[in-house]
Amino acid sequence: MAPLIELRGVTKTYFVGGGRLDVLKGIDLTVDEGDFVAIMGPSGSGKSTLTQILGLLDRPTSGSYKLMGLDVSALSDDEGAALRSRTIGFVFQMFNLLARTSAQDNVALPMLYTGDAGREKRSAEVLAEVGLSDRMDHAPNQLSGGQQQRVAIARALVNRPKIIFADEPTGNLASEQAEGILRKLSDLNNSGITILMVTHEPDIAAYAQRVIKIKDGVIVSDERNAAPRGGAGKGRAKAGGAPALAAVPLPRALTAEELLEHVRSALRAIRANKLRSALSMLGILIGVTAVIAMLAIGKGAQKSVETQLSSLGSNLVMLFPMSPRMGGGARGAMGTFSRLAMDDVAAIRRAHPGIVRVAGEVQGNVQAVYGDKNTNTSVTGAEPDYADMRSAQAYYGRFFTAEENERMDRVAVLGPTVVTNLFGEADPVGRSINVEHIKFKVIGVLARKGSSGFQDQDDKIVIPLKTAMKKVLGRQFLGTISIETSGPEQTEGVIEAVRVLMRKRHRLPDYKEDDFTLRNMAEIQAALTGTSKIFSLLLGIVAAISLVVGGIGIMNIMLVSVSERTREIGLRKAIGATRRAVLIQFLVEAAAMSTCGGLLGIALGMSIAFGMSYFAGWAAVVTPQSVLLAFFFSAGTGIVFGFWPARKASLLSPIEALRYE
Ligand code: ADP
Ligand code: MG
Repeated sequence: MAPLIELRGVTKTYFVGGGRLDVLKGIDLTVDEGDFVAIMGPSGSGKSTLTQILGLLDRPTSGSYKLMGLDVSALSDDEGAALRSRTIGFVFQMFNLLARTSAQDNVALPMLYTGDAGREKRSAEVLAEVGLSDRMDHAPNQLSGGQQQRVAIARALVNRPKIIFADEPTGNLASEQAEGILRKLSDLNNSGITILMVTHEPDIAAYAQRVIKIKDGVIVSDERNAAPRGGAGKGRAKAGGAPALAAVPLPRALTAEELLEHVRSALRAIRANKLRSALSMLGILIGVTAVIAMLAIGKGAQKSVETQLSSLGSNLVMLFPMSPRMGGGARGAMGTFSRLAMDDVAAIRRAHPGIVRVAGEVQGNVQAVYGDKNTNTSVTGAEPDYADMRSAQAYYGRFFTAEENERMDRVAVLGPTVVTNLFGEADPVGRSINVEHIKFKVIGVLARKGSSGFQDQDDKIVIPLKTAMKKVLGRQFLGTISIETSGPEQTEGVIEAVRVLMRKRHRLPDYKEDDFTLRNMAEIQAALTGTSKIFSLLLGIVAAISLVVGGIGIMNIMLVSVSERTREIGLRKAIGATRRAVLIQFLVEAAAMSTCGGLLGIALGMSIAFGMSYFAGWAAVVTPQSVLLAFFFSAGTGIVFGFWPARKASLLSPIEALRYE
């Protein structure tokens, strides 16, 4: 049977500021299972250093260390952590309990890293063992020093360790509380647990069965105490010899429970520093708010453009009597303003087999009067095909016929806005109105289309083309010719054929530009989609910038948090947290913070979008995709920008972290 602990020629040298400090100068030590050993020596003699090496928190500079027969002097950090969590418990002078965390959660913490089930039951059990059943929900600042140290002992016991290392466990306690702790350690020893206790007081060393004194880095005396004060002594008989350790336990995979616990402690940390967390989230919050609101408004605008485009009719080519270069209509010196006539309509019909229908149109501004009401509106002179080609069927009543157009009948179809202006709620069909002092009979009402930007598409009167040209507007020429093709694949050919035809009819020599414009509705649609692509690109840039800014805010606060919590990190590692566990803990914390910011941003962005559509009448559409996108991007930002601080935390060495002031 191998001894529990076997040190051979262990040394430890620190190199500080160019000089070397030999703290341990060749320690040979064997400890049997079940023993209660006190390590004594003056301050600075290397007691803590030795304990840390024994507890796998630190590595010797040279020499060998066998724990239960297994050579552990060259374990990796994570192997050390895994072995520590199963076999070793620590009790520190400073208690090292997590603040704002209940006694029970403190005690259950080591089980998080072993992944053992039944944390609640087991932690209650060991707390009862140290006599604190009635203090399970108390935070450390609600407990006395002695009680805190008993919580720390319970934490050391929770994973059923073989050895407990106690480094000056009573150093911060009044004498009667100290005695309670020492009796507890003696009891634990009697139940078979090996105890190694560091102290510099002979009174306290009197509780141990074996007292080792070190001085100047070597063991100067090693004595047995036949009658320890606390009654320890049954331990060695009880231990009965541990089987030799065959191999180092492997670090365990991440469990859902561990992740959940990290989320819980992350939320606790955020709550504990409310203002600070809120300020750090601000960057992400503002960015996500802007993206959600802009996406919603952009999407809404796109929707209304789409509805309007479809209300213009599909597969439509429009012919205007001005050169494309003239743009808005400023009449240039080139004289490129042409005329479109009724016989052009007839000629275009035969220009290409892909042409289904052709119709001429004129437009003008008029005054319409009914009774004592009048309104300024626009009049469109159209052919009967207009109804189908431009999706402008009568929603109520009827559209006019080809005969009515030929006869130049005075019949009118009104847009809903005109109906409201002239008739209010009354039924207009069958009544007579005056348009430019000419009496018209109302035969139908158009469906409501809504406004397109500045223009109310419902504020118009549609009358037969010939009536409009001859009687109302006094025009000889058409304002627009609409050409419907049999499908989008025909459009190109149709445009080319009409261009050739119109150039011929206008007798344009080759060197002259077109004096008319052909516009394809699909082209207009494409132009609008192009605009929305630019919009999305800008939005993407805004989102990227704000996420980077927000991410830096989070990185900054995480770095602060890591250095503030160095002791906590050291403690977590001492009780068995692997690098990965610490890394994940801090990543989760960063992600939780950025996700909170993201969720608040989503809520705020949605309220802005809905507020806009409610109060300003803007269309706003919040799509589930944009919400999901914002959510994952904000969470991702936390992970990306939290990585460096989290990695820094995970690489901290447990002893340096525990010594950190
Ligand atoms: P003690 O016996 O009081 O517990 P320690 O083991 O803590 O003593 O320290 C022994 C010596 O090693 C001290 O002189 C201390 O200054 C030095 N020492 C401890 N840790 C370090 C370190 N990380 N770097 C340099 N010197 C250290
Ligand atoms: Mg010390």
